[in-house]
Amino acid sequence: MTKKKLGTNTICAHIGEVKDEQFKGAVSPMYLSSSYEFLDVDVKRYPRYFNTPNQEFLAKKIAALEHAEAAIIFGSGMAAISTMFLAFLQKGDHLVVQNTLYGGTVNFIKEEFPKYGIEYTFTDGYTVEDFENAIKTNTKLIHLESPSNPLLTITDVRAVAELGKSKHILTSIDNTFASPINQKPIDLGIDLVMHSATKYFGGHSDICAGAVTGSQEHIDKIWNVAKNLGGSLSDMTVWMLERSMKTLGLRVKAQTKNALKMAKWLNKHPKISKVFYPGLKSHPEYKLAKSQMEGFGAMLSFELSDDLDSYQFQKKLKLIKSSMSLAGIESTVISPHLTSHALLTPEERRNVGISDQLIRFSVGIEDVKDLKRDINQAIKKIENK
Ligand SMILES: *Cc1c(COP(=O)(O)O)cnc(C)c1O
Repeated sequence: MTKKKLGTNTICAHIGEVKDEQFKGAVSPMYLSSSYEFLDVDVKRYPRYFNTPNQEFLAKKIAALEHAEAAIIFGSGMAAISTMFLAFLQKGDHLVVQNTLYGGTVNFIKEEFPKYGIEYTFTDGYTVEDFENAIKTNTKLIHLESPSNPLLTITDVRAVAELGKSKHILTSIDNTFASPINQKPIDLGIDLVMHSATKYFGGHSDICAGAVTGSQEHIDKIWNVAKNLGGSLSDMTVWMLERSMKTLGLRVKAQTKNALKMAKWLNKHPKISKVFYPGLKSHPEYKLAKSQMEGFGAMLSFELSDDLDSYQFQKKLKLIKSSMSLAGIESTVISPHLTSHALLTPEERRNVGISDQLIRFSVGIEDVKDLKRDINQAIKKIENK
């Protein structure tokens, strides 16, 4: 049986284990050596070569989940994305990149690309036409994010992949928000899929890591740059990540189910003026999301009605934490206008659709009734104040 035929939860539970040949223990041994035999061995192993036993085997799990040939694991999502960009872009090359993008990726492009002489264009929107319009003769890579942060817009992943193929331009996607449980971009024709493993892969808000998957040829190319930049992940954390990923399917499916229930409930709530979730039939790209995702994900955003102070709302929540990060098993919220989009002027924020009333909600595994109760008690406390 090939790895592709295995179900997601089986891959999570079994693929990429390091066998304990010596003692036959149930779980992967942790290989902490930074020094491996050099003479008469096929593979020169070294942590910064991304090829210790734990690194090599966990990469197999991540590749299997994404239906990719190969994967490489990094010390953070940003190490993954920066190394991927620098592997395929050099001086004089051009990147087309979606306008609604993770803030750290935007900073990397704006602050570092000029130093390398790499050109870039942010698209005007998130449709395939927007991507096509941004292409130049020296475009070497198209990078997208779907669903996007924080408004959960959906880009036609198949169409962007086809656009890339027709023009011989590589395509990459940040699949952090969906995770391979809800979206497998390689199956949709995308060349390179990256993750902040800090989010759903880790899932317990205690790991910082990243990964890129793709063909063996592309991952080898990334490896050539990765060994120079040195963004590898310590084997202790690789081991923790393997442990976390055994429940990736269970966690993300439970969180996705909760998110749909919460989105439907918030959508009818008298004190919530708007809900952004691709699983709602009212979402403009609902059908597109359905055609390319296996589930709609566990991230959503909503706007509080104008009479409610969004800062006070977050302070009054008891169960749901306000948190910089996302995708843990615990539900968290954040105000994009105070965090990821704080550097924009209020007018710039309005132009990209981010109001001061907007709350981004990372839905966890809690019982939905308790999440609803928490939101209601917080609203009650700040009403008429
Ligand atoms: C968090 C995040 C990143 C960056 O990952 P780090 O692990 O923090 O370096 C990239 N993309 C998305 C969508 C993210 O949420």
